[in-house]
Amino acid sequence: MTELIYHTDSYVKEFDATVTTVDPESRTLILDRTAFYPGGGGQPADFGTLSSGETTWKIKRAKKAGPEIIHLIEGDAPLPSVGAKVHGEIDWDHRYKLMRTHSAMHVLCGVIFRDYGASVTGGDMEPLKGRMDFEFETMHKDLVEKIETAINTEASKGYPVRVDILPREEAFKIPDLIRTKINLLPEGIQEVRIVEIVGLDLQADGGTHVKNTSEIGKIHVVDYKSKGKINKRIYVEVEDRG
Ligand SMILES: [Zn+2]
Repeated sequence: MTELIYHTDSYVKEFDATVTTVDPESRTLILDRTAFYPGGGGQPADFGTLSSGETTWKIKRAKKAGPEIIHLIEGDAPLPSVGAKVHGEIDWDHRYKLMRTHSAMHVLCGVIFRDYGASVTGGDMEPLKGRMDFEFETMHKDLVEKIETAINTEASKGYPVRVDILPREEAFKIPDLIRTKINLLPEGIQEVRIVEIVGLDLQADGGTHVKNTSEIGKIHVVDYKSKGKINKRIYVEVEDRG
């Protein structure tokens, strides 16, 4: 089972690990620990590099496979052997933009639930851009500006973002989690990772987030679409800070 460094510390950019599995055919590696996010919950996977001695391998992306994280290697350089010590480095520019974007999406969820009682049903993002779907019958274009003002007001208050890993039983007792469809979690999952924007939003979530909403920067609500009478899709962009 791979130790998921990004689950407990999303700010780790570099790490040391040991190779546990090598598959030359698919050019993939498994490590005993990794900071590479494998994608999920609408957040794209990390890429970056692994190195050992003189050799550097480009990681195309990481990918989840059961309890393991697979690293897909680019190029045709010979792969390290099982037991080799490697140094990993994630593409921080890409990842940090995704952390700011992902946390912005949770601010949006928190504000829309608080102000309109609308639940989120899904979402997707790329660096500095995202969309979220809500069961939000009363959404209309006059609300766009109001929502944009509210999410920026909240984000700039600097709420701490807390991550906790709770036993399943305990997580199921948190009323706020029920609305985000925690009951859809597969039976086998005994621990639930909780991401809380303290005072604003609480979700079962596997993604990487900033530690304080003040890191997000300016958020724009750029568009919205009706996906039926009840379902509305809201598009946001997060300020590019270079
Ligand atoms: Zn999320």
